[in-house]
Amino acid sequence: MIKINVAQIKKRLVGEKSLVFELTPAELEISPQEMAIDGTVQLTGSISNAGDVLLLQAVMEAKVQRTCGRCLKEFLGVTKAEIVEKFYPASAENIENDAFVYDSDVIDITEPLREGLLLAEPMQALCKPDCRGLCTVCGADLNDGDCGCDRLTVDPRLAALKQFIKN
Ligand SMILES: [Zn+2]
Ligand SMILES: [Zn+2]
Repeated sequence: MIKINVAQIKKRLVGEKSLVFELTPAELEISPQEMAIDGTVQLTGSISNAGDVLLLQAVMEAKVQRTCGRCLKEFLGVTKAEIVEKFYPASAENIENDAFVYDSDVIDITEPLREGLLLAEPMQALCKPDCRGLCTVCGADLNDGDCGCDRLTVDPRLAALKQFIKN
């Protein structure tokens, strides 16, 4: 959990507090199943007084263990997330249901950071932009060189059938 005391910021009209953190996945409440973060997450940003709301702005960077969507190899990628989120005083009127609120001098910024980082992770990752993937016929990693299979004329479904018959 990441909590910030905003008492000083609230007092001044243009109050601002800069944030520089090195956060563990546990502090961000991110499990290895949700995101395989390698090491810690770097964060720089600020919390500022924007009149009736507090504005959280942050950039986060994490090394993440990913699996290539084409060749299934594991590799280390970098996920960068930019977070801009408003915190409303709990007493404010007409705030949206999913808005972040605070009711004391301490605000919990865990949820927006957690969500922001998880959303920044691509659904499908590639180990390199031109990854050649696996041979649809024999399953060999084509990045290691061509296996010699005839993939152009063979329908992958037919190939599977052929493999099945051969076995
Ligand atoms: Zn790959
Ligand atoms: Zn092959």
